[in-house]
Amino acid sequence: MMDRIWVAACAELEQSVGPNNYNHWIKPLRLAGIEDGAARLQSPTRFISDWVNRHFAKDIVAVLNRVGAEVERLRFEVGQAARPSAQAAPAASAAEPAAGSAPVPTTRAPRADLGAPLDPRYTFANFIVGKPNELAHAAARRVAEGGPVGFNPLFLYGGVGLGKTHLMHAIAHDYQTRHPSAQVLYLSAEQFMYRFVQALRESTIMDFKGMFRNVNMLMVDDVQFIAGKDSTQEEFFHTFNALVDQGKQIVISADRAPAEIKGLEERIKSRLSCGLIVDLHPTTYELRLGILQSKTEAFRTQHPDLEIGAGVLEFLAHRISTNVRVLEGALQRLFAHASLLRREITLEVAQECLADILRTNDRKVSIDDIQRKVAEHYNIRLADLIGPKRARNVARPRQIAMYLSKQMTSRSLPEIGRRFGGRDHTTIMHGVRKVEELITEDSGLAEDIAVLKRMLEA
Ligand code: ADP
Ligand code: MG
Repeated sequence: MMDRIWVAACAELEQSVGPNNYNHWIKPLRLAGIEDGAARLQSPTRFISDWVNRHFAKDIVAVLNRVGAEVERLRFEVGQAARPSAQAAPAASAAEPAAGSAPVPTTRAPRADLGAPLDPRYTFANFIVGKPNELAHAAARRVAEGGPVGFNPLFLYGGVGLGKTHLMHAIAHDYQTRHPSAQVLYLSAEQFMYRFVQALRESTIMDFKGMFRNVNMLMVDDVQFIAGKDSTQEEFFHTFNALVDQGKQIVISADRAPAEIKGLEERIKSRLSCGLIVDLHPTTYELRLGILQSKTEAFRTQHPDLEIGAGVLEFLAHRISTNVRVLEGALQRLFAHASLLRREITLEVAQECLADILRTNDRKVSIDDIQRKVAEHYNIRLADLIGPKRARNVARPRQIAMYLSKQMTSRSLPEIGRRFGGRDHTTIMHGVRKVEELITEDSGLAEDIAVLKRMLEA
């Protein structure tokens, strides 16, 4: 029971405190119980519990309540082993590691700690492939095979929560399985910088350099982080060159293309551009639904009593289009509710329990914008889109505009009807349903709609 609550809470905490903070501070914790309004959290060290207590106590209490536990405060138990899988080292923090001010545990990090732990769930097997990520996935597979390096570096980029970190961990797992004696080093650019500053401070810079240069595969996540940080960039550049010259594989991720990272040195940009650059596109409805279905199935193998009502996953895939992490967080919360309340998750339950997430996914787009964009996209006149013509070449775009108006604005059906030449709300409903149906059958149309949505959101 505690485990389930904690799993759901963790999914949300990762969202609210960010993945770096989450991995370093929250992940090593375990929820041991809840008594008298206090959540008992086990922490491997006092350093972690103090830090968490100072920085994240409020978030944790809020999230625990949101996932259904009644908690007013936290109580830490130090010295308890965390889950065996949580091996996060509390060494890097999200704080700017300006020398001297970063929080450092007193023990020096051992060699094996140089990289960040890999999440065992981030495998190729757990990665759902769809149009938006098929190229990135294929490239990742290819690199994981090892062998003669086809493209070096592999540069993966895309928006938040689209699976960059997942793919990198998957490469590392797979490559390590094929080459058990190889040294694979995965870390975030932030950790790279932190280690670098630490090595400078402790005069171990030669060790630092040596360790990086001895790896067979180096993976640096979120490299945009070192933009503008000159001495770190300098060191990164040398490490990078040394490895590439030895024919070692490098995999890098960023939230945008190299050319668009401001404050990144030109020579680094041009070296990054020598390899293969692939981007992860925003998710489509099919991909989101596929991910939801596979996660639900996985959960159900361990909790066969889980009941999710018809249309709930489809509803989530429609309404939560920002990123996969948010989607997963929503699903985790539903699972927690299902097991706490021991009842089926219907559409109503889902809407109520996810009200806050759904609200932030409501975009501020007007019906006018939608009509204009759709008319432009299908090359028809705005007057025809709104007017009475029934020809298919205007009727279908009209239905798409109705569908987008329903999905992307908070207008009611009668209101939308008025904006479409005074049509009845049942006509709008019919149009919306029709498009929902078409989306599931016609991937070309679904992609078209995804493109329209992206343009409207931009
Ligand atoms: P990024 O590093 O691009 O911000 P992550 O790799 O951290 O994103 O992905 C966020 C979450 O979404 C992770 O839990 C990841 O497992 C999940 N995820 C993203 N894309 C997929 C996918 N295609 N299939 C399964 N899970 C995915
Ligand atoms: Mg990431």
